[in-house]
Amino acid sequence: MTQAATERRAVGVVRILIEARAIQTRIAELARELDDHYGSDIPLMVGVLNGAVTFMTDLMRAMTIPVVIDFMAVSSYGASTRTSGVVRILKDLSEDVEGRRVLVVEDIVDSGLTLQYLLDVLRRRNPAEIRVVALLKKEKGEAADVQVDQVGFAIPDEFVIGYGLDYAGQYRNLPYVAVLDPSVIDDVEV
Ligand code: 5GP
Repeated sequence: MTQAATERRAVGVVRILIEARAIQTRIAELARELDDHYGSDIPLMVGVLNGAVTFMTDLMRAMTIPVVIDFMAVSSYGASTRTSGVVRILKDLSEDVEGRRVLVVEDIVDSGLTLQYLLDVLRRRNPAEIRVVALLKKEKGEAADVQVDQVGFAIPDEFVIGYGLDYAGQYRNLPYVAVLDPSVIDDVEV
């Protein structure tokens, strides 16, 4: 990539929190644990759109066991950086989860409300097992007591972007996780 292209992608980024290489190293570790966990079973990986797409595609390619994938979309913050507490299913699964070993793949757990809601929905469909892997989990006291079996990185309670995570629809294609310049947040109407 040219210097200009790199700078264009990074406009608004204050600080890189997790470098691209560190993400891939950690994903390889998570994938090995998942390979061991499922053995000869084929998990149904459920990616939570849109943020988990990047993590999901890297994670499934780092795993060596066969997997089936599907996606769900739920409403989250819109163009704001705070949770509304309101969660809505925008796109449901195509696969039936009954009797299957389901692996929910999340980009980030912040308050935990989105994940809690999603897990409630999935549990009512009688899967054989639900496991949750999240790339990022914010370290905060008031977070919901929600099931997360594997965490890639515990991060401080800051608004982050990159590696699938957006602000107002942008920055998802950054290969690293970074903190967004607050002046950019102020500039965008929410
Ligand atoms: P929660 O319900 O756990 O508060 O938030 C879950 C969803 O909010 C995540 O799946 C993600 O879409 C969004 N979210 C939470 N924290 C952040 C953040 O720091 N940056 C971005 N870009 N999205 C976040």
